[in-house]
Amino acid sequence: MTEVERHNYDVVVIGAGGAGLRAVIEARQRGLSVAVVCKSLFGKAHTVMAEGGCAASMGNANSHDNWQVHFRDTMRGGKFLNNWRMAELHAKEAPDRVWELETYGALFDRTPDGRISQRNFGGHTYPRLAHVGDRTGLELIRTMQQKIVSLQQEDYRRYGDYEAKLRVFAECTVTELIKEDGHIAGAFGYWRESGRFVLFETPAVVLATGGIGKSFKVTSNSWEYTGDGHALALRAGAGLINMEFVQFHPTGMVWPPSVKGILVTEGVRGDGGVLKNAEGERFMFRYIPDVFKGQYADSEEEADRWYSDQEGNRRTPDLLPRDEVARAINTEVKEGRGSEHGGMFLDIASRLPTEEIRKRLPSMYHQFRELADVDITAEPMEVGPTCHYVMGGIEVDPDTAAATVPGIFAAGECSGGMHGSNRLGGNSLSDLLVFGRRAGLGAAEYVESLGARPSVPDAEVTAAAKRALAPFDGPEDGTSAENPYTLHTELQQTMNELVGIIRKADEIEKAIDKLAEIRSRIRGVTVEGNRQYNPGWHLAVDLRNMLLVSECVARAALRRTESRGGHTRDDYPQLDAQWRNRLLVCQTTGDEPVPEVDVEAREQQPMRADLLELFELSELEKYYTEDELAGHPERTA
Ligand code: FAD
Repeated sequence: MTEVERHNYDVVVIGAGGAGLRAVIEARQRGLSVAVVCKSLFGKAHTVMAEGGCAASMGNANSHDNWQVHFRDTMRGGKFLNNWRMAELHAKEAPDRVWELETYGALFDRTPDGRISQRNFGGHTYPRLAHVGDRTGLELIRTMQQKIVSLQQEDYRRYGDYEAKLRVFAECTVTELIKEDGHIAGAFGYWRESGRFVLFETPAVVLATGGIGKSFKVTSNSWEYTGDGHALALRAGAGLINMEFVQFHPTGMVWPPSVKGILVTEGVRGDGGVLKNAEGERFMFRYIPDVFKGQYADSEEEADRWYSDQEGNRRTPDLLPRDEVARAINTEVKEGRGSEHGGMFLDIASRLPTEEIRKRLPSMYHQFRELADVDITAEPMEVGPTCHYVMGGIEVDPDTAAATVPGIFAAGECSGGMHGSNRLGGNSLSDLLVFGRRAGLGAAEYVESLGARPSVPDAEVTAAAKRALAPFDGPEDGTSAENPYTLHTELQQTMNELVGIIRKADEIEKAIDKLAEIRSRIRGVTVEGNRQYNPGWHLAVDLRNMLLVSECVARAALRRTESRGGHTRDDYPQLDAQWRNRLLVCQTTGDEPVPEVDVEAREQQPMRADLLELFELSELEKYYTEDELAGHPERTA
């Protein structure tokens, strides 16, 4: 049998971003033994790249803020397709999770009277994002790592071993989840450096692997966003929901080509930056959609007054939810009002003094200086949409984060439901904290409730090793050798061009055909060299996951014949109330080397009456069907 290093833990958390770390802390605090596995270095995750802040209705910058307003904003941002229970838990618990971070040592920026400062972001009624300049994610990760070290020090005092209850396995990629009798029994992977195999025997895994951005050519995401958790869950029998909803952030860098897609934080607009087209027009006033009419300023004067007086004025449409702004930029460029390199201009230079820009947006200042030779205190930035976030993910129980397969839990970007069809900026960091904690707790309670633990069948380990090593075996009979880098480029181009920001049936169908071709060629993927640090092999393994999640995105995008949030159909440009309550659930059948994807439509649970009453009937009428609203108290009164 293949040589495999073995470990045994109560809970194995896969992913060391914000969601994973928060889950680790919770499970360890419940007294369980926990491993955290990450394929990057410990501390390098998308969470560390988060710039703008973490949304929580603490009411520090505007005392009118509360969980109900945050809940309403989140549901509106997601165009009422969100799992309302998740949105409720998130809005209620986010402030406690932020305050708790302070007890771990986080140092947020402060208001003049010493409270945590909160900044404006798109779609949030009040300034709500707790932040540390434009490096908030770094502080989140730093703080939770510090908490983990302090827990390990406690373990050292008690057991004489720092890793007695909590161990970090960095640069270790999980490739398979292993089950026995339908229950999770373990996770299998390899050390990136040595290529040697490792098996975690465990009854519970928390998937916290982040998103899928590396399936697209232009993206703000980095190399580890290959949809691994999504694919692991699918292959283990769990379902993915909302996969058609992919967020294109309106402001990525567009020039020079080597940095295309890198994020320009929404904090630039939150702090006063405005979007202009090549004619110098602040075009966003022309793009306020009907569902948001009346909620946003319709003149530059009112929009500008709003920055200093939010009670008497409506917010600027530069801060509409991301899907609206990205579509507007796309249209302006298409209609010939784009910048030299095909973007729009984002101007903070003429809006804030130099020192203020450098103080509030230090990373943006350096990013543009170093990468584009642009001084953002003197000139506008050129920006355009970039694939940023996936709203779709593993279907979970809102309260426990349990997936439908016993022993799988999921939190953070790889889980689905919370953000509906479009996530508001800042709502990811808070999501990680709220549902990371709940996933750690859910996994701990599940493990405590088990009688006997499932054991890992040897045959499954052998099969997992064989699958991982297949790219070294050369092409299967009847296929020609394929280079993983070539296939990855073709996959990214297909997704970007045919299932990108604006979609239509014939293009999505073309994409599905191309994905089928890649699926047949993937059998031939061949890598050279040996198992020691071999990036070509790592990509070959990741490619199967990217192909699988891309198929989910494309197939669900074809099924949803309406436009909503992060899914825009040129051939079905309107919201369709009949679709609001329908989830598309992706599942797989078969196995080798990439299983087939099936998509099924399913109805969501209707929103609880006390939550529904938080909205004006006139607003609900823009989203709901007449039948759904027939029982509304205002209708029956
Ligand atoms: P991540 O933080 O990405 O962590 C994923 C982890 O999983 C990593 O440790 C990775 O190594 C590991 N992993 C993946 N696959 C495997 C595998 N097979 N085996 C082992 N380990 C694996 N959101 C906000 O709310 N506010 C912001 O200001 C903000 N700014 C952003 C700026 C940028 C540039 C980007 C890219 C995103 C931003 N976001 C922001 C979004 C937010 O940062 C992410 O959605 C969030 O951090 C995801 O956290 P996570 O814990 O789910 O995953």
